[in-house]
Amino acid sequence: MEKYIVGVDIGGTWIRVATCTSDLKEENIKLKTTRTLKENKFSIIHTVIQLMSELLSENGIDVNNIIGIGLASAGPIDLEKGELFNNVNLGFKVIPLRKPLEEKFPDIPIYLINDCNGAVLGVHYFEAEEDEKDNLVYVTISTGIGGGVICNGHLMLGKEGNAAEVGHVIVEPRSKITCNCGAHGCWEAYSSGTGVQLRALEAIKEEKLNAEVLLGIVNNDLYKITAKEVFQAAREGDILSQKVVDDCVFYTQIGTGAINNFYDSTSIYFGGAMMKDKEQIISPLIEQFKKNPIKFTINHPPKIKMTVLGDEVGLRGALALVKYKTENNPILL
Ligand SMILES: [Zn+2]
Repeated sequence: MEKYIVGVDIGGTWIRVATCTSDLKEENIKLKTTRTLKENKFSIIHTVIQLMSELLSENGIDVNNIIGIGLASAGPIDLEKGELFNNVNLGFKVIPLRKPLEEKFPDIPIYLINDCNGAVLGVHYFEAEEDEKDNLVYVTISTGIGGGVICNGHLMLGKEGNAAEVGHVIVEPRSKITCNCGAHGCWEAYSSGTGVQLRALEAIKEEKLNAEVLLGIVNNDLYKITAKEVFQAAREGDILSQKVVDDCVFYTQIGTGAINNFYDSTSIYFGGAMMKDKEQIISPLIEQFKKNPIKFTINHPPKIKMTVLGDEVGLRGALALVKYKTENNPILL
């Protein structure tokens, strides 16, 4: 009998569920995506169960042939309790995941992981080259900044499963800018999508730099400014936007340098919504690490790459998690 794996990726905006044959051949992945419902603390897991049930029936998969469900979610996640806590985007203090899923599918093993830790497994399984697999980092630059780290061939999880919160590395401790997490001067506060948007709005209020091009793009409607418009304006010569983008790049160099100092990585893969403007973020990063890495990292610089898995990287990670768990792969030991 063909065996199957189920993968789930829970994000602030989208929930993705996939089934695949246990060999994880890409062509056998079937997936469904829907918007994340935030009506009550059970909405998320109920959506997951709904999508999963649809996928199973549409593809004629018997529940008894599923070897595991991998659940990657925006964190923080408590792996032991099987729930999310303190998540700022999903809206509830505690969001139960494992228990309701277990009640619905009592005989299937369920494996949880924080989404960025999952994503690095996705890169590891589906994309990374042999020589980079043992020391590999994934960084997402999106609404926030997060990371997943494989060091010496092991996935770093931490005491509850939230190791590698790289976005909250403090790159400017005396900064007046408060991050979502409450600390001052986190990398995320400068270089994430929200960070770029807020820094641009602040700079406009200060009225020190010319923002004519940016304001033209949004017809003087400040509510229309997102990171996308800031990057576009920077390309079109807007002085204020260029300064915000320069800061975004500078702090990304600091953050990436810190990661390499901590983990001595072979390769660091980047992904996330901000990669639509990768030419403005990643190209200067590559350039810096090629020409003058010592300014940002004492260790030999890593290869800087972009994931080809796009939005699916977390979902792929959830699938890979089940495969590695059921094979007792040493990466998870
Ligand atoms: Zn922070």
